[in-house]
Amino acid sequence: MAKQSSIRTPIVCVMGHVDHGKTSLLDRIRGSSVVSTEEGAITQHIGATLVPIDAITRMSGALSKVSVNIPGLLFIDTPGHHAFTTLRARGGALADMAIVVVDINEGFRPQTIEALQILRNYKTPFVIAANKVDRIHGWRVQQGQPFAKTFAQQNERVQGTLETKVYELVGKLSDLGFSSERFDRVSDFARNICIVPTSAITGEGLPDILMVLIGLAQRYMTENLKVSADGPGAGTVLEVKEERGLGMTLDLILYDGTLNVGDEVVVAGNDQIIETKVRSLLKPRPMKEILIEERFERVKSVTAAAGIKVAAPKLDGVIAGSPFRVVRGGNRDEIIEQVRHEVQDIQVTLSDIGVLIRADTIGALEALSKELEGHHVQVMRAAVGPVTRHDVIEAGTIRDPLYSAIVAFNTPVLPDAVDALADAAMSHVSIFEGGVIYQLLDDYIEWREEKKQ
Ligand code: GDP
Ligand code: MG
Repeated sequence: MAKQSSIRTPIVCVMGHVDHGKTSLLDRIRGSSVVSTEEGAITQHIGATLVPIDAITRMSGALSKVSVNIPGLLFIDTPGHHAFTTLRARGGALADMAIVVVDINEGFRPQTIEALQILRNYKTPFVIAANKVDRIHGWRVQQGQPFAKTFAQQNERVQGTLETKVYELVGKLSDLGFSSERFDRVSDFARNICIVPTSAITGEGLPDILMVLIGLAQRYMTENLKVSADGPGAGTVLEVKEERGLGMTLDLILYDGTLNVGDEVVVAGNDQIIETKVRSLLKPRPMKEILIEERFERVKSVTAAAGIKVAAPKLDGVIAGSPFRVVRGGNRDEIIEQVRHEVQDIQVTLSDIGVLIRADTIGALEALSKELEGHHVQVMRAAVGPVTRHDVIEAGTIRDPLYSAIVAFNTPVLPDAVDALADAAMSHVSIFEGGVIYQLLDDYIEWREEKKQ
């Protein structure tokens, strides 16, 4: 077969504040696509769900006016890890696009704002799902209908309430420097952010949100989506997990090229670059085969975009968010250099004296350090993974008590680190934990101000 470039599946991330409906929205998209696809066409991936284009066009029905040339959409499942959105691919964002879910009745919350700041930093196109419209008092549900149809069925008061709430979002977005409109009034996707009223429970507005995503992909990113399908694979590590019978494995989003069993690959560990060889590639088993003893199905090869589990020797210490590269055709040294560069490239400026920071992924560590830097808080050491006993002891030896602190974003504190804190010699050390970057920052700054007095 001739070497050809093709348009790969865009990767879509779902972001937003806790309980605003991210999981429900993904579930509803997945459920509806299962219903509207030929059996077997919907494919489960590790850490992701692929919705093929035929399912999307069927779901969006008459709305699909644009000619569609992408194979589908790969939604990254974000089980509570909103920091997945900070995952990177060659210096940019791993996600090609995002849906920011906002509970229309609650409006913006801290994680909504954080999501928008991250998207702005990476210049990632996104759409706002103004979710839970069915909770508006007096709403008449039109199961699975596009917005125009369901809106027309609402009485004037409900329509007015919806308009007011949408304009509140427009105002909030404007405060953050984004120009936005209700999606059906947007003519230029490049200038305006689309707000789509949705319900993840009734499916209302879902066809519209899919159409906006397809529109964004087609008009503004087709160039970025060109891949040579048979080129060497490139991906980002989502998670590093021990699996019974398989040993250490990587859950990976492959965003470029092809990955085969037996490929030599390069990934980043906590303090060294790791070279290894793919032993097996694993996909989840389809639902109907759930009784089969083995949870995973082995495949020989995968092509981007895809979510896949990789089993290989020497994976201990690989960091979440690490780049993952296939070595093919004698460019080993070049690839190692690239991976090293990408990992070191995270813009953490380290000082002789400063706080210790921890996060669950490389991208999250970068986002955290940027925010600290913006507030003139120096960082002495930055690492991916849980807070260790060693971290506490190191923080305890920092000469300036205002820096005897550990800031831990989205990552646990190990029990022996907690024990170390109980030691009288460490009593001046504080650990700040949490899942919202700027709240962590506020907490640390407040603590520092109190100490100064
Ligand atoms: P996440 O934390 O953002 O993933 O939010 P979930 O998807 O877990 O939703 C939180 C709660 O809100 C659950 O009880 C959902 O059933 C409910 N929920 C989510 N979306 C909607 C919606 O559109 N309408 C209504 N009525 N409830 C919703
Ligand atoms: Mg959730």
